[in-house]
Amino acid sequence: MKSPMNSGAKDPVKVDLVVVGGGLAGCALVWEGIRRGHRVALVDKLRPSSSSRVAAGLVTPITGGRFALSWRFDEYYSAADSLYRFVQESTQRTIWSVAPALRIFTSAQQRADFEERWIGPESADYVGSLEVELLSASDLSGFAAPWGGFSMFPAARLSTEAYVDATRAFLGQRGLLYDALVDLQHVLVPTRQCMRIEGLDLQARWIALAQGLEARSNAWFGELPLHPARGDVLEVFAGSKQIEHVVHRDGWIVPWGPSRYLLGATYARDPQECLIESPVGLEARAELIGRWKGFFEEPQADVQWIEQRASVRPASYDRHPLIGSHPEHRNLVCLNGLGSKGSLMAPRLAQLLLDELEFRIPIEKVLRYDRRKV
Ligand SMILES: Cc1cc2nc3c(=O)[nH]c(=O)nc-3n(C[C@H](O)[C@H](O)[C@H](O)COP(=O)(O)OP(=O)(O)OC[C@H]3O[C@@H](n4cnc5c(N)ncnc54)[C@H](O)[C@@H]3O)c2cc1C
Repeated sequence: MKSPMNSGAKDPVKVDLVVVGGGLAGCALVWEGIRRGHRVALVDKLRPSSSSRVAAGLVTPITGGRFALSWRFDEYYSAADSLYRFVQESTQRTIWSVAPALRIFTSAQQRADFEERWIGPESADYVGSLEVELLSASDLSGFAAPWGGFSMFPAARLSTEAYVDATRAFLGQRGLLYDALVDLQHVLVPTRQCMRIEGLDLQARWIALAQGLEARSNAWFGELPLHPARGDVLEVFAGSKQIEHVVHRDGWIVPWGPSRYLLGATYARDPQECLIESPVGLEARAELIGRWKGFFEEPQADVQWIEQRASVRPASYDRHPLIGSHPEHRNLVCLNGLGSKGSLMAPRLAQLLLDELEFRIPIEKVLRYDRRKV
């Protein structure tokens, strides 16, 4: 790993792409760059409570009360599946698991709405690869599921912490990881031919900023329209439970290890701190415990609430990502606004950004960070 301030060196380290920020956004840019044969360096200050380390990494095709298909699911899923498999091969680490996810209906109306959208004639409008299957109450025995539920496939989970750690280790071994917090307002210097990060003695053809909420500490892309949303999760020990799949209801339960589960996630607009013992943290805990109880038919005696974790999602004002190139410096781009869907969306967005950098293929307006102005 490089030391943060390497200013004694005379010749800068030259790479094709420098990525600033090593969360899900930055790691996708790193791997897409590597896959295209570029030399890539990562500048990232490791933060245990970053959104990418607290996230469950779920990729869920059908979400919300209306059972809508996640926006452009097939396009984004296929990019995610391909990139994460490439990362697994490159790092020899298991970070990506694909398996059906289940969802429990909470009312007869929900079941009817689902059937109308996914089983009835309306379902013929969908031509993608998603498979859904209705489940009866007895298929979901042990859960409180009098109206049954459904399974969806493909669904997946990215082990986010393992992924970002594997990325850092991969680059660290090659001398291309800079574990430093850089003040981009002052050290990022665009010139006609290249971009430089002073202090780190790094020089690149392209620089990508993937800073999550910390993008607000510099003005390279003006004020990104971020609407942060805090999320809390709870790790649970439940010795008598045997849950094999990710299960959704008004929250989700993820198998997390022997007799352990991750329960999540709350969604609170505006709180920007992650304290657990705060009024927001205590409220979130009570909400999560209530959800856990709601999942099951019978109360369980042996449940223990092990650890609560919280972070703040870099969500955008309209839930679409915020990406694109700088208006003057076309070799400087940003990838942000991933909200609740970083695992699904980051790989495809990284492709689009590299297409813009390499081939000048413009980014469509619905994804651009400045879409409110153009
Ligand atoms: C409770 C919770 C549950 C979630 N569950 C899911 C889920 O199931 N599925 C899903 O897809 N998403 C989930 N998310 C959302 C997901 O976490 C985000 O979409 C994603 O992590 C955002 O990644 P990011 O890279 O944009 O930002 P971040 O994770 O914030 O990463 C930014 C990184 O950049 C670094 N950085 C910033 N500025 C600098 C600088 N100047 N110098 C050096 N380093 C810098 C930071 O230190 C950090 O490491 C969840 C989020 C929360 C909070």
